[in-house]
Amino acid sequence: MSPFYGSAAIGPGQQPDYVNAVAQIDTTLSPQALLTALQLVEQQQGRERGPERWLPRTLDLDILLYGDQVVNQPHLHIPHPRMCERNFVLLPLQDLAPDLVLPDGRRVRDLAQDCDRNGIWPLADASR
Ligand code: ATP
Ligand code: CA
Ligand code: CA
Repeated sequence: MSPFYGSAAIGPGQQPDYVNAVAQIDTTLSPQALLTALQLVEQQQGRERGPERWLPRTLDLDILLYGDQVVNQPHLHIPHPRMCERNFVLLPLQDLAPDLVLPDGRRVRDLAQDCDRNGIWPLADASR
């Protein structure tokens, strides 16, 4: 589990700040079954899904990577298509796995080095 970061919302309109982190897990679930399981957890945490995207939410669990696999299905794209442009993904991912190499050959450390440091800050983590 990475440390937590606060980040300013990038979604539409005025939104409260977000809390971001990255976790690495071992699973026997297929990518699609993992997505379904994550969406169940989101639902259990009070996430309501409407037609509009990028609104404030109680919990958002995305699959960033699944080993070296590339998945392009109608409802599932891995690596997550927007992960490399998001500092709130790259910075916690770098804390967890700086030497990780994406399926396209790019290294997490290099991607994180180039990313914008505005609008993101480390949060004190009471569990550490
Ligand atoms: P973003 O994908 O830009 O981070 P979001 O997380 O707010 O936006 P959601 O409304 O949570 O978007 O998800 C919309 C749909 O994205 C999901 O129903 C799911 O089918 C699809 N999806 C595609 N690829 C992924 C992935 N790698 N992880 C999670 N959801 C994904
Ligand atoms: Ca997301
Ligand atoms: Ca999501």
